[in-house]
Amino acid sequence: MTGTTELFGLTRAQLEGTMTGLGMKPFRGRQIFRWLYQGLETDLFNMTDIAKEARVSLAEHFTVRPLAAPEVVTSADGTAKYRFTLDDNAVIESVLIPEKGRLTLCLSTQVGCPLGCLFCRTGSLGFTRDLTTREIIGQLWAVQRQVREAGKRVTNVVFMGMGEPLLNLGNTIDAIRIMLDDLGFNLSNRRVTVSTIGIPARIDELGGQVAVNLALSLHATTDAKRAALMPATKRWPLKELLAAIRRFPLPPRKRILIEYVLLDGVNDSPDDARELVKIARSISAKVNLIPFNSFPGAPFCPSGQKATAAFQQILWDHGMMAIIRKSRGDEHLAACGQLGYVPLSEEDE
Ligand code: SAH
Ligand code: SF4
Repeated sequence: MTGTTELFGLTRAQLEGTMTGLGMKPFRGRQIFRWLYQGLETDLFNMTDIAKEARVSLAEHFTVRPLAAPEVVTSADGTAKYRFTLDDNAVIESVLIPEKGRLTLCLSTQVGCPLGCLFCRTGSLGFTRDLTTREIIGQLWAVQRQVREAGKRVTNVVFMGMGEPLLNLGNTIDAIRIMLDDLGFNLSNRRVTVSTIGIPARIDELGGQVAVNLALSLHATTDAKRAALMPATKRWPLKELLAAIRRFPLPPRKRILIEYVLLDGVNDSPDDARELVKIARSISAKVNLIPFNSFPGAPFCPSGQKATAAFQQILWDHGMMAIIRKSRGDEHLAACGQLGYVPLSEEDE
């Protein structure tokens, strides 16, 4: 007989609390935590440093259930898109991006996104629900288990998949705790990045709980221009947002990352670049210029090569760190902002 209380997705503290709640030692919780996230083991009977009778009694109370195995689609550039079908048939995606010496996993935090940014495919699909901690960490768990077979491990995590992490803050923070825990995935906080549209109060809340890298989806330099591209930002004026960013406790020697999608004729003029310099300086940020990844029905065009190069040059001339983020995986709509639930056959055309 197996129990019904789910352990997958619990943090170390929660697992310890669950065990003590049953009159067991917190040490049991620590053992299970380690097996689960470091050993990638979900069968309680295989947790061999736990006495046999204890394993039997654990199995009577609990289940340990990872996400159902994802479908994987690999692009020619090595980027792999993992598509998970959840218990309620909702579909989410994560993207694994191999680069020199790194293996970066881009995670989703919501099914869809309620914020409706006009350039974002996920936003155009609307919002279904928040992911549970199990569903967030389950993406990393499944990918880690797969790459382990090739002797590799995920080295970096970015919350840049579907959804706005700060709107699902509690579950995102718990997933981060499991990632950073040395008995869990043991990732350095310097290698975990939360990307956000920029919600001032939530940035403070995140910073009060964990120190990770923060990426700000700025995309335009005035409140009016931001609101035209990202209607939800009307509620979060730049002035308050930048103040919250300045208070944010980054890992040592890390900088805020500004993300800026270049849209032809919309936000890619030399004046826009100069305004961006001012904002980036005011928060000591570095800048990622992101070529717009188009999708069917998108209301924008990507900036041309000339405008893109000129924009970057202005940032460089002002001493800014600015790179153009290479678009990865877009042959299978796996690049930023393209994640959404489109049947595979449609994308493969
Ligand atoms: N909701 C969060 C994280 C997910 S989006 C956020 O907005 O930051 C991750 C990044 O992809 C963001 O910088 C987002 O602005 C960017 N993005 C969204 N749609 C895009 C598109 N079509 N092309 C390029 N980047 C896009
Ligand atoms: Fe949501 Fe981010 Fe897409 Fe905006 S860019 S709709 S915040 S996922």
